[in-house]
Amino acid sequence: MEKQHLPTYKHDFLNEKKWLTKESEHYVFHYFPNSQGETDIDMIVRTQEAAYSKIIAFMEVEPPTKKIQYYFYPDEATKTSLMGDDWYAQSIRDEFTVHVLYTKEIKPLGEHEDTHLLSLPWGISIGFFQEGLAEFMVGHAWDGKSHISYVKDGYKQNLYPPLPDFFEHEAWLRTDDSKPLYFYSLVGAFTAFLINKSGKDKFKELYMKMRRDVSKNKNQKAFEDIYGPVLEIEKKFKASL
Ligand SMILES: [Zn+2]
Repeated sequence: MEKQHLPTYKHDFLNEKKWLTKESEHYVFHYFPNSQGETDIDMIVRTQEAAYSKIIAFMEVEPPTKKIQYYFYPDEATKTSLMGDDWYAQSIRDEFTVHVLYTKEIKPLGEHEDTHLLSLPWGISIGFFQEGLAEFMVGHAWDGKSHISYVKDGYKQNLYPPLPDFFEHEAWLRTDDSKPLYFYSLVGAFTAFLINKSGKDKFKELYMKMRRDVSKNKNQKAFEDIYGPVLEIEKKFKASL
């Protein structure tokens, strides 16, 4: 996710002595003894290495030379005390690190966070498309249901503003925190729609042209230079659901 900025981020996890580690081709995993992370570590390695290959192949980027560091926290209190936040998962771009709350019930594994890190050669897009690309790589909502089922329901409940409203970076940060599945599904489904309709190269061009430091209107112009009038695209997207 990159829902929040992380003003409370801290590095106490680096001083924690309890971590066990397991290294694989592209990752170093850190987890606590007798935790769910330890129980599942072989499955975790398989899941992340498979995600890694899938992302690199789709994005057609060079694999980075650094390994991704994964930290698995057994509960919210431990996560908060060691890295400063209790949200399920965060990737820290500058540190090539992912922090995950990992329990019997909560297992945020897979493509999402790694897409944020491995997509860096494409640049840093606005939140809407950054999260969209990550969710597209996952292919479904994190409870296993389809993105589209949430989006249909979300439109019925009038949860969503017009899509061009998301063309400024901050708009994504303002989405309703209590309904993350609906908003992550919207970006995932819309990204899939653009990629399936007009291909990966056009989406890559869009991704690279959407900028965080310009107005919504400027980003809308960049979008329309590539895809045509956004209101028509939005109409087709809704009709495709
Ligand atoms: Zn994300």
